[in-house]
Amino acid sequence: MTRKFFVGGNWKMNGDKESIDGIIAFLNQSAACGDVDVVVAPPTIYITYVKERLRAGIEVAAQNSYKVAKGAFTGEISPAMLKDLGLKWVILGHSERRHVFGEKDDLIADKAVHAIESGLDVIYCIGEKLEEREAGQTKEVNFRQLQAIVDKNLDWNHVVIAYEPVWAIGTGKTASPEQAQEVHGWIREYLREKVSDKVSNETRIIYGGSVTAENAAELAKKPDIDGFLVGGASLKPDFVKIICARS
Ligand code: PEP
Repeated sequence: MTRKFFVGGNWKMNGDKESIDGIIAFLNQSAACGDVDVVVAPPTIYITYVKERLRAGIEVAAQNSYKVAKGAFTGEISPAMLKDLGLKWVILGHSERRHVFGEKDDLIADKAVHAIESGLDVIYCIGEKLEEREAGQTKEVNFRQLQAIVDKNLDWNHVVIAYEPVWAIGTGKTASPEQAQEVHGWIREYLREKVSDKVSNETRIIYGGSVTAENAAELAKKPDIDGFLVGGASLKPDFVKIICARS
């Protein structure tokens, strides 16, 4: 089974028009390399600015969306609005949404269901905190976060799972290829047991947490690592090397 390599860039709350022009320039100048899905997620306010300037072949994602289409939810955006702008992807359950903004599994799962029903594809983030890993709870935490969407019986053709250990995000402490592969393997087996062989074999599981141009190629060699979700390094020209990590 070959799963198409997937590289996402999460810009978080970074950038202004000038720096974004620089990112767009290196993305647009990059030669296509192999069969890779490339998706970048600018801050919401710059989505249209970025989408109008990026070359074909690079998709734009939102960093979040709410669980209903419209209404009295000040500050939120809906999947319907993202579709209206021509977007295909949304990141949900990022560790900063979970741990800075207090989003819980139920809410994130509801958002995922609604996004998929609205026609978006979802990058669904899961991952354990350092104290959870040290307490031997890595499997339990990741399985609990995964179970929240398994329970929803959603269309898995529209899901990419991002395994992002919280201790590796923005810290410079990347999971070793062996550590990442171990958890990716557990996730794949969990999908096999709880959903189906097909979903287990076909769902892309990408790694996020201090991925750089230097460590991407080794991580990309692991059998269950199907790409990356990249934060800090997605703002730099080296992102292009990460896109090409498996080529
Ligand atoms: C992220 O924000 O999803 C992320 C993985 O960040 P970084 O690559 O900076 O660790």
